[in-house]
Amino acid sequence: MPIRPENRSRYPKTWKAMVAAAGERSGGRCECDGRCGLDHEGGRCSAINGQPHPSTGSKVVLTLAHEHGVPLEETSIDRMFHACQQCHNRYDAPMRRAGIQQRAREALGIQDMFA
Ligand SMILES: [Zn+2]
Ligand SMILES: [Zn+2]
Repeated sequence: MPIRPENRSRYPKTWKAMVAAAGERSGGRCECDGRCGLDHEGGRCSAINGQPHPSTGSKVVLTLAHEHGVPLEETSIDRMFHACQQCHNRYDAPMRRAGIQQRAREALGIQDMFA
């Protein structure tokens, strides 16, 4: 989902810079090291931004995932990891079920944090 125009202004001004920095750190590759619950071969997910996903085959779009327990207001990439859709969804699934993170995101207008 694209960022809705009415929400764009609510993003941190540095968001673009953060995404760029995260991309540099990750090298365009998913940074998940198994925290999503999957046993990634080689210790790290091999999904590459813009390439077909190794498991799902759909185009990979890396997004910044907040580490659990980190307040959403804390927008340092040190507290986030660059994740493919599969890892991000899996990682956030327990939180999403609880509805906590989702409601917090909606309150902040940052439910779609895409690179
Ligand atoms: Zn991944
Ligand atoms: Zn993963």
